[in-house]
This record gives sequence, structure tokens and C-alpha cells, in this order.
Amino acid sequence: MKKRIISAFAALLMLFSVLALAVSADNGQLKLSKPGRITAGSTFTLTMKLAGIDTAVAEQGIVSVSFDLAYDHSLIETSTDTLGGTGFDGWEATGNVSSSACTFMVCDFEGKNPLKKADDLTLTLVFTVPASAAGQDVVIEAQNVSIVYGDDLESIDLTGVPVDFTVAKKSDVSTTVDGITYLVDDDTASVASVANKSISDLVIPASISYNGKTLKVTSVEGGAFADLSAVKTAYIPCTVTAVPSDAFDGNAAVTLKGCKNSAAYKFAMEQGFEWAEDTTGYTEKVIRESTCTIQGASQLACPNCGAKTGSEKTLPLADHKYGEWVVTKEATNDEDGSRERVCSVCGAKDTEVIHRLDCKHENKKDVIVKEATCAEVGSKNVVCADCGKVLEENIEVPKTAHTFGEWVVTKEATVKDKGTREHTCTVCGTKETEEIDKLGCKHVNTTNGHKDPTCTADGYDSTTCKDCGKLISYTKIPARHTAGPEETKDATCTADGYVIQKCTACGEILKNEVTPKLGHEFGEWQVIVPATTTSEGVQSHTCSRCGQVENEMIEKLTPTEESKEESVPAIESSDAEDSKASAPSQAEEQSGSGNKTIFFIIGAVVILLTVGYIVIMAINKKKNY
Ligand SMILES: [Zn+2]
Ligand SMILES: [Zn+2]
Ligand SMILES: [Zn+2]
Ligand SMILES: [Zn+2]
Ligand SMILES: [Zn+2]
Ligand SMILES: [Zn+2]
Ligand SMILES: [Zn+2]
Repeated sequence: MKKRIISAFAALLMLFSVLALAVSADNGQLKLSKPGRITAGSTFTLTMKLAGIDTAVAEQGIVSVSFDLAYDHSLIETSTDTLGGTGFDGWEATGNVSSSACTFMVCDFEGKNPLKKADDLTLTLVFTVPASAAGQDVVIEAQNVSIVYGDDLESIDLTGVPVDFTVAKKSDVSTTVDGITYLVDDDTASVASVANKSISDLVIPASISYNGKTLKVTSVEGGAFADLSAVKTAYIPCTVTAVPSDAFDGNAAVTLKGCKNSAAYKFAMEQGFEWAEDTTGYTEKVIRESTCTIQGASQLACPNCGAKTGSEKTLPLADHKYGEWVVTKEATNDEDGSRERVCSVCGAKDTEVIHRLDCKHENKKDVIVKEATCAEVGSKNVVCADCGKVLEENIEVPKTAHTFGEWVVTKEATVKDKGTREHTCTVCGTKETEEIDKLGCKHVNTTNGHKDPTCTADGYDSTTCKDCGKLISYTKIPARHTAGPEETKDATCTADGYVIQKCTACGEILKNEVTPKLGHEFGEWQVIVPATTTSEGVQSHTCSRCGQVENEMIEKLTPTEESKEESVPAIESSDAEDSKASAPSQAEEQSGSGNKTIFFIIGAVVILLTVGYIVIMAINKKKNY
């Protein structure tokens, strides 16, 4: 029973459809929303919505929507023949999916719940994307779209807005660049998440570097920005071809920014986000080439999608596009000829003289082709003044001298430092810099320097000008030792004297004068024991300086008859320092006579006295020290 109603209804619809086709085609649209990044080997849900339906039509109550879906069945396929979605509660959803065609209809057969607001309807269909679809471009187009509405079951045809996308290769590989994590494949990247959860102004780049390659950022994963609660603006580049509806899940207070008509723009319009066009990075692009008659134009445009902004700029005219030269008059020996060529675009003619043939080119003249300036060399041709033939071409003309303006002091000279000044060429801007001599100084403010010499290094006295630093005078103080007090010891009869002087700083001996010992100064010999014919006598003399006594033996006298046997023993004394008296050198044979004994006693007494005297002198000398 129900089936029959459906068939009858369908037949009716078809009739209306055919009728409606003849009428206007701009009654509204069935828009297919662009899905997010679609990877091979997965499924995705295609979302379709009614748009642009006349509110008067909708208010009468839409009771059915029917359409075909055209797509390459070898790439993708629906996994169901039943539409899902919202806004059509209690309706029947039917579909017929074959390997070559797809037909769908949702219909409020029983008229229970007609759709009063076209915007409320959302239709969904799940597609499977096999692994073989990786990298393929897919287009899904709604065709034969029509709606039936109102009590009279009127029907109108809608435009099907197609959707296209490229199937990404399935990839679990991720990389993080500047705090943004991407899923990457061979040459594209899809934004997966943002590390800085409190970011306010999110900027997604158009490309990233990964493993030495530049990957284009082409999509955004579902929920990629859902956890960015503080985000206020989000720039999404136009390289992104799909922004899934849940990209900012639950966070609608975002202003999306990017190129107009980009996927981000469409996303913002569909999802009700604020939108602001962003032309950062746009470059001047020729939008109309100039010809020789019409000036072209350029405009700021996005290098990625070509979206334009601002006003057009006029470009200069292009050169004429001349054809081949055509001789209009042959040159002869006596007369110049001529030739011309024509612009293929505007028909402008260019005429030239062909010089007569017999000229010897004896009068040459320079023809400047390009004037030399101080910045660039020029060029000239050497031309025959008579016939005009170019004899030498493009000879370089040297640069001209600069045209300098007034000198400008860039640094004032002081008495201490040189100054600088520069002048600038008024033609090319070349600057020339020159030094300005130091100012003359009268050396009025001077400062004295002094350094004491040391034992080994020179010192100095100097005078320097405080203003200009000039050294006005310099006197070297040679290195010198510092003489200490003289240590003096007088020479004695038996010991050398000396004068020693040392440097108090380094101890070096500066003076060492030796006075040789003086030697004794003995007085006259004094006979202590006269010599006899039988014994030797003793005589002594004494040093007048140190009191040293020296004894000497006196030879026996030449014997007379009486005194032939008399003799005197010889006695010697040692040096003052030697406190030992020497023993008699010879023991005289005692003869037993009284004379001999007396002489001996006297001799002994003299020796004792002498020794005593020496000891006393020695003690006195020690005390004097
Ligand atoms: Zn763009
Ligand atoms: Zn032209
Ligand atoms: Zn000539
Ligand atoms: Zn210049
Ligand atoms: Zn000075
Ligand atoms: Zn010294
Ligand atoms: Zn002496």
C-alpha cells in the first residue's frame, strides 16, 4: 500500500521536476560542505544543506528533497544508501546506490512534519575512501536537485554546489613546528593540535619544513583548535582547502582571518564565525599585460590563491611588436633608400633610411646612444656624417665626474682628533669623505709626568699638553743605584784597610777600595845585652805605630886575650799575635864561671819583660777595637 503511494508520488514529482526545469534555475542551492582532511583507507561524512531558498517557499513547508550524487565510483563509494542528518524527523529516507549512479530522497510522505525553515535541514552521507584513492582528486556533485513544498506539492529545482578535495595519504607521522603539531605525508601537512593552549592570536603557516622538504599546509584535523579557550583570532592560510566543522568545537568567539573565498572564509560563513580578510604577504602581481596601445595593470595578490586586494596599478605601455623590415625604396649609389616595419598590434610604422651605397664614410661623427652619467657608463655609435651609416656600434662612453654639493662637516675637528666632512653627488648620491686637520693647539694646559729611575731602568721628567696630548718635553733620568754609607777600615801595619759602599736598593757593591797594610815602622836598634867575645849580644827595636818589638842577635865580638871565651846566647821573639816566647835556640854549655851565669840570668829577665810587654800591648789593642 505504502509502496504504491510512494511510486505515485515519485511519478508526480518527476512531472513537476520536468516542468520546473523549464522555469528559473536560481531557486536555491543544495550545498555540499567541504570535509576536513580525508585520508585514504578511512571514512568521511559528507554534509549537505539547503541554502538560498526563498523564505516564502520554505514557510509553505518543504516536504521532500531529492537529488543525485555524481562522483567517480572507482575512487570512493557510499557505505549506505540511506541519508542521515537532522531537521526531517519522521520523514522517509530512501536511496539507490549502484556502481554508476546514486539517487536519494527524503520525504515527509505523511505530511506530519513539513520543514518550515530550510536552514534547519542537514543531510549526511557516509563515504568510504579506499587506500587506492590516496593522492586522488575527488569531486562530488549534486545533480537533479529539487524540493517539493506547500499544500499543492509545488516543486522547484535547486543548484547543486559541488565539493572537491584531494585524498591525503594515510599518515600517523606527526611533527611539531613552532608549537603546532601536524600530521604529515609526502608533501602536505594537516594541523592536528596547538601546544600553547592559552594562545590568543593563532597563525597557521602556509607551509612547514620537514625532513628537508617544504610541506604545504593543506588541511586541519577535526577538533584541532577545540582546546584553545583563549583564542581570539585565527589566521588560516588559503593553502588549507578544508576546515572541518568541529575544528573550533564549542569555541565560536573566534574571528577567522585569511584570503577571501578561502576554505577558512567558507568555514566561517557556514559555521557563523566572525571573518576578517587578511592580506599579509600579498605581492604585486600583473593582472593585465600591457600592449603597445593599452596600459596593463597590477594589483596586490595572494601568491598562493591569487586573491586580490586594493586598487589596480597602471603599468607602462609595452614596446610595439614590429614585423620584418620591408624595403620601400632601394638605395642607389647616389641616393638613400628607405625601409619600414609595421607593429602587428597597433599598425604603427617604423621607417628607416637605407644609406646610399658609394659613400667612403670619410666624415665620422659620434652619435650618443646612451648619455653617460656619473653613475653609469654611456654608449655611442660612430656614424658616417655624410651617409649616416653606423660604422662602430655601442662604444663605451666613460662615466662623467660627479656633481658634488657643498661640503658638510660630519665630525668637527678638535685639537685632539681629526674631523671629517663629506659631500654628496646631486645626481647619483655618491658620497665622498675627507679628513679635516686637527685644530692648532697652543699647549696652554700642561701636565707634568715623572718617573723615578731604578737601579736598572731609566726614569724621566716630562711635560704633556692636556688638550692635544702632545709631548712637549722629555728628559731621561738614567738608571742609577742608591749609594749607602761607606764602610771603612783603616790599614794597620800588618792588615789591609778598605772602603766598601753598597747600593741600598739592590745590594750591588759600588765602591771597594783597598789600602795595603802599612808595614811596621821600627825605631833605632837598642842593645839589650851587649855582645862579648865569648857570647852573642841581643838588640831590639820597637814599631812606633803598633809597638811590635823585634829582637836580633849581636855577633860575638872578635876575641881579645881576656874575653876570648865570652859568648851571648841569641834570643828571638815571635810576632805580636804569637804569644809564645821562643825558647833559646841553643843551650850554651855551662862552664861554671860566674859571668856566664849572670849573663844567662839577665837574658832570661829580658825575655820575660819583653813577653810581658807584648801581652799588655795586645790586651790594650783589643780594648780599643
Ligand atoms: Zn590566498
Ligand atoms: Zn604597436
Ligand atoms: Zn658614408
Ligand atoms: Zn654622481
Ligand atoms: Zn696642545
Ligand atoms: Zn742598586
Ligand atoms: Zn807596626
